[in-house]
Amino acid sequence: MASITLRNLVKQYGDGFPAVNDVSIDIADGEFIILVGPSGCGKSTLLRMIVGLEDITSGDLLINGERVNEKAPRERNLAMVFQNYALYPHLTVFENIAFPLRLAKHRHSEEEIRRMVTEAARTLELTDHLERKPANLSGGQRQRVAMGRAIVRKADAFLFDEPLSNLDAKLRGQMRSEISQMQRRLGVTSVYVTHDQTEAMTLGDRVAVLKKGVLQQIASPRELYEQPVNLFVAGFIGSPSMNFLPAAVEPDRLRTPVGDIPLAADKLRAAAGRQVVLAGIRPEYFEDAALVDEAKRGHGYAFTAELTHSEWLGNEQYGYISFDPSPEIRRLLENLARDMDAEELRPQIVVTLDAASRIRGGRPAQLWVDTRRVHLFDPETGLNLT
Ligand code: ATP
Repeated sequence: MASITLRNLVKQYGDGFPAVNDVSIDIADGEFIILVGPSGCGKSTLLRMIVGLEDITSGDLLINGERVNEKAPRERNLAMVFQNYALYPHLTVFENIAFPLRLAKHRHSEEEIRRMVTEAARTLELTDHLERKPANLSGGQRQRVAMGRAIVRKADAFLFDEPLSNLDAKLRGQMRSEISQMQRRLGVTSVYVTHDQTEAMTLGDRVAVLKKGVLQQIASPRELYEQPVNLFVAGFIGSPSMNFLPAAVEPDRLRTPVGDIPLAADKLRAAAGRQVVLAGIRPEYFEDAALVDEAKRGHGYAFTAELTHSEWLGNEQYGYISFDPSPEIRRLLENLARDMDAEELRPQIVVTLDAASRIRGGRPAQLWVDTRRVHLFDPETGLNLT
């Protein structure tokens, strides 16, 4: 197994901005790292640079401390687990797993091959399926056969490029947990590319968020969620997305288009010297004021708002509050949308409410917001000030 170090990696295709721009990441032996970001952020390019399918324009790539920039893919001993699994339909599971051994420079005896394939099959719980063809396997089993190939090769690391993107939602969920369990069981260093933030949050030890080739933040899923470094990460991670409210800074409160939000002095200190900030409030920081328990009440603030409409999802509800933006706020929202790579940001906030809440759309409602958890962002730099 291997540690992988990316040191100031750059990939420049033409004259435009680099597809990968000065990315440095230390991947520990056995770690599961996710590269995530919107389309075109450079995550596939970065993966292809690691595996050796793409030249490195500048910077260093180290595997177990050794520089491998100029090494051919097969000399790097990394295994790519492809989106379509790249299994041979006419071969049995046994022969599919044995395939890299039959291709290897060093010739293995039949007995050796049988031993290695059987062992991999046992680890992957495929023993009962060795004589089947891929067409007769479930998606999860196929994925395991693809991993079996990587295991018999004794690859130092597994690299996954959006392996689940063609599957329906239910299967994707199952496969996600299969991959996660298998990776932990095998303890193989893994790098996994996805544009899906749910996959990123549920699979990785650490998640690297990329935007336009630039690494924005690399952290545990929890840290990314609770302490995003900037507007982009804050908006990208979490569903429904964090709400961003333009807010005028007053000595003891924020003045927002949905009303004033009193904030503790230490929180407001973060905004010192600024007249306007963007308040970042996740939908679940709001609650139905009638349902907030006594112990929490003092840490937040109740206010009245009219929900334009609400959606009941069975286990929870989403409520929507629209606000009328001034020209200045409209401009802020436009800038924000550009920064977030979003088409537009509506003058609206989303709140998640308990399924038991009796609040409904079209009527004024008493809401409560946990003011301890409000983030403040600099509207110019996008940096999280809190
Ligand atoms: P997606 O999720 O859509 O695959 P991505 O985040 O994986 O996106 P990349 O495929 O790595 O993004 O592409 C990053 C940038 O590099 C994009 O702007 C893309 O157009 C550009 N790019 C990728 N491959 C090439 C190439 N062979 N020649 C020129 N430009 C390229």
